[in-house]
Formats: sequence, structure tokens, C-alpha cells
Amino acid sequence: MINVTKAYLGDIDKFKAYVDRIYASHWLTNHGPLCCELEERLKDYLGVRHLILTNNGTLALQVAYRALGLSGSAVTTPFSFVATSSSLHWEGIRPVFADIDPHTWNLDPEQIPGSLQADTSAIVATHVFGNPCAVERIEAIARQYRLKVVYDGAHAFAVKHAGQSVYHWGDASTLSFHATKLFHTIEGGAIVTNDDEVAARVRKLCNFGITDVDKIEGLGTNAKLNEFCAAMGLSVLDDIDNILERRAEMGHYYRQRLSGYLDLQRQADDSQVNYSYFPVALQNETQVLAMRTELQAGGINPRRYFYPSLDTLEYLQPQAVQYQSRSLSERVLCLPIYPGLARATQDQVIDTLLRGHELSYPQSVSWATAV
Ligand SMILES: *Cc1c(COP(=O)(O)O)cnc(C)c1O
Repeated sequence: MINVTKAYLGDIDKFKAYVDRIYASHWLTNHGPLCCELEERLKDYLGVRHLILTNNGTLALQVAYRALGLSGSAVTTPFSFVATSSSLHWEGIRPVFADIDPHTWNLDPEQIPGSLQADTSAIVATHVFGNPCAVERIEAIARQYRLKVVYDGAHAFAVKHAGQSVYHWGDASTLSFHATKLFHTIEGGAIVTNDDEVAARVRKLCNFGITDVDKIEGLGTNAKLNEFCAAMGLSVLDDIDNILERRAEMGHYYRQRLSGYLDLQRQADDSQVNYSYFPVALQNETQVLAMRTELQAGGINPRRYFYPSLDTLEYLQPQAVQYQSRSLSERVLCLPIYPGLARATQDQVIDTLLRGHELSYPQSVSWATAV
């Protein structure tokens, strides 16, 4: 089965060379030399001031909320991976949804003021599929209402906006280095911030509140990355430019053959995206399910990211219905994209989708009138 992604494993000898260093040092976790090297190289590669590694992207979110002192509620997007909201709930912060922009698929800044509550302390937005949020507008709103901004940047590795890393925006951004992500450490994540004090608090929170031998300064958790995961990260990072190039080639090819036929995510202006995913929006849920069945029959397994819309989650009720997010989540399908995916497979996916498209749309009916 061809899945929507395939975890990247580079050259095994390169990985082994890093693992040899672990055997030589006998240092397996707790800020070992490979973690330190990976942190430095990632900071350098992304061009950010502080980057603190964590053991996954969900804890990165939780620690970021704590480091920024969030409380009460946060306005967030219903169209994201469940961790964006569940991490808030886990930390005792109520997620209150605001709807997405139907074109960029990101949190619509103009919907934020209407969702603010008396106790709202933050905006938590996701750069969905690596497409930068309307960061300037979100931050203007945050200043106006004195809110913190956290970006869930799990999809946005190497993404740039206005010539710099998209992780530059917000009080903090979080990354996920899960095996399915463009850059990965098997399991892992990071927190990026420009603020020295926030960075210091993050480091403390990630290590039980321990600041020195015999010194525990307040509550913390265990969010440390281990050396074997760092070894994987270093060996994937060695190949990152090639990974990004292959993805861009595939993304451009999908875009070239599908645009005009299917609804695609509109890319933010002045941005350089990473093709970490290739989502399309079909006409309706019936068509999504039919296409999925047909693709699966051909050995291809697309995924419904993100489905369901998070404003439907039972444990987050009550919530106002987020119409744009619900509509998109019913229509979206992510297509396979990863280095090593054959052009013939891409053609098979495209041909299947276009055949399905022709069945349900006479050529004379444009997309706009059909919706
Ligand atoms: C993957 C992902 C996460 C969670 O990251 P983990 O490393 O799996 O904990 C959070 N948010 C988004 C948008 C993601 O895609």
C-alpha cells in the first residue's frame, strides 16, 4: 500500500556513525552531545534565536503554554491535528474556536474578535499544511487585546514568510519531529522563541524544574529528547535540502495537473512553502469517500486530514459550529507525497481524481458554480 507519507530513513551507515558516538560516550539522554549538536544545527538552519528540543510536538505545545503563563481560554483553529486543542484542554485552558479562511485553510484573523471571552489569554493558530497564517494581522489583533500568540508549526519546517523563518512570529512556535513529518527524529519536537526569558523557562519546564544539582525551581515535566532520536535527527538533517527539493518537484507536479479541476489550498503571499502535505478539497464528503475507496482499490491510501473538525469533539463542548472548518474537513483529502514516491504513482492518483471529477462535473460547470 502507498501511504500518504513514508517516514524518511537516510543512509543507514550515516545513522550508525552517529549511534557509534552514543556507544562511545555512553550518554543516552539528558542534554547529551548529539542533542546539543542538533539544537545548534537546527537553530542555524532555521535562523531562529532560541530552539529547545522536546520529546514530541504535543509536549512542546503544553510547555509553551506554561512558559507563557496562559490561563482561562485560548482562541484556536478547529481545522488542525487534534493535539493543537487537546494540549490546551490538558493544560486546563479552554479552547474556543474561531473559523478558518476558506481559501488559506488557516485561522481567519477576522473571526478572532468574535470568539474572545473575558478570560482569553492567547491565540493558538496552526500553519496548516505548512501554509503561513496571516501572521501580521493575527499579531495586530493580539496586541490590541493583549493576548499571547502561539503558533503550532508542526507542518512548517523550513517554511519562510517575508524572507525569514515563519517560526520568527508569535511569542512561541512549536514543531513536531514525529516520524511522519517532513523533518523527524522518530519522536520529537521543539519550541522556538525570540524571548530569552521564555526560553529559560522552557528549558526549566522540560527538565522537572531542575536548574542545577540539588536545585529544583518549581514545577516541571519531562520533555527531553534522547540521544538516539537526536542521532536520527542529525542524519535526516544531513539530507534536508534534497528532501525539500524532491517534495517541491512533486508538489509542483500535483499543482500543475490538478489546479483548475480541484479546490487547492491558497498559499500565503510572500511565502516559501515546504510541500509537507498535498491536500485537495473535493466537492463533498460522498465524493471523498468514493475517491478514497477507488484509490485504495489501486493500492493507494490517502488520508482525511483533518477530519473531523475539532469543534465537533465531545469533550470540548459547548462550541459554536464552525461552518468553514466543517465543510472543508468533510471535503479534504491528503495525497501521497514523499521523497521516493514514483511519478507513475502520482499520475495514477491524479488520473483517478480527474476521472472522478469528470463523472460529477460536466466540463462546462465551473468549480465556483458547483459549490
Ligand atoms: C503532528 C502534529 C502535532 C503533534 O506532534 P507529536 O510530535 O505527534 O506530538 C501537533 N500539531 C500538529 C498540527 C501536528 O500535525
